Amino acid sequence: MKAAVWIGKNQVEVKEVEDPKIKSDEVLVKVKSAGICSTDIHVIKGDFYNGNPPHILGHEIAGDIIEIGEKVDRWKNGDRVVVETMVNCGDCYYCRRGMKNLCDHGGDIGFPPYQGGYAEYIAVPARCLYRIPDNVTYDEAGILESFICPAGSIFRLGMHFGDTILIQGAGPAGLAYVQSVRACGAGKIIVAARNEKRLRLAKKFGAHVVIDIQKENMESRIMEETDGHGVDISIDAAGFPSTVENSIKYVRKGGNVILYGIPDDRDYINFPVTQIILKQLSVHGASGNPHVWQPVLDLLSQGIFNLKDMVTHTFTLDQFNEAVDFVSKRKDGVIKAVVHP
Ligand SMILES: [Zn+2]
Ligand SMILES: [Zn+2]
Repeated sequence: MKAAVWIGKNQVEVKEVEDPKIKSDEVLVKVKSAGICSTDIHVIKGDFYNGNPPHILGHEIAGDIIEIGEKVDRWKNGDRVVVETMVNCGDCYYCRRGMKNLCDHGGDIGFPPYQGGYAEYIAVPARCLYRIPDNVTYDEAGILESFICPAGSIFRLGMHFGDTILIQGAGPAGLAYVQSVRACGAGKIIVAARNEKRLRLAKKFGAHVVIDIQKENMESRIMEETDGHGVDISIDAAGFPSTVENSIKYVRKGGNVILYGIPDDRDYINFPVTQIILKQLSVHGASGNPHVWQPVLDLLSQGIFNLKDMVTHTFTLDQFNEAVDFVSKRKDGVIKAVVHP
């Protein structure tokens, strides 16, 4: 089969490799759409270590089942599926307490030992599959994973109707947060970012207030919008030292802070411990959540979530390097790009 193989720092080669072979509890999926994630771009560039090249990356995957392992009985050839990234052991301290996302022995599809979705075919454990509703496209399902993580942290937090939310960052994660908190009945959604085009999209997806931080004073705008209290939930979906600090600064006393954007390892963050203590804040670190795949698919099918307009660019597998360049330089207002192997 053809695959985009990461072979070293800044090097990905699109070439013929051996077809994957399935184990008895796995299925073979013909990949129809694979979302390009900025995590993979960091891996390719060598500034986020997660695996040894050569390796086929790609952990946002949708496609058709074309072969079934002998122990798999719930699926058949031709089923349209989206692949959950997380693979857990089912037996460790965390798995036995219902926290498979924290599994000690688990792994992620797209990272060793699991090959990823930037390829024509992928072998995946059947327990990682979800059915794509008939009215949901492969491309929407192909970027689902990038939506699941932000949505999952809102699900875990259990926000309340009418809550006021600050979201810093209006990239794929920020926009997923806008849609998630809107679906949960947010009273006021405030988005702060520095990209005008993306702020317009944030409005389209449900933000009530957008703040262009290059032109406006963020502090006075937020205080004005919250009667001087600060927001109930403050989300950092950008991952800069300044946005981490701001997320704590602009939350009200007793409020919740969600840290989602991952800062550069070399960044020094002046973590405001005194403010956290005196304001009696709850600070949450957010990444994967295994419990929201089906609910998010259901709301996507009902038209409550809009992933269609988040997929702004498509590439063939042969154009993989072009796609990576496109996403990393944020060319042409790209939000999410997918490859069609
Ligand atoms: Zn990702
Ligand atoms: Zn486990």
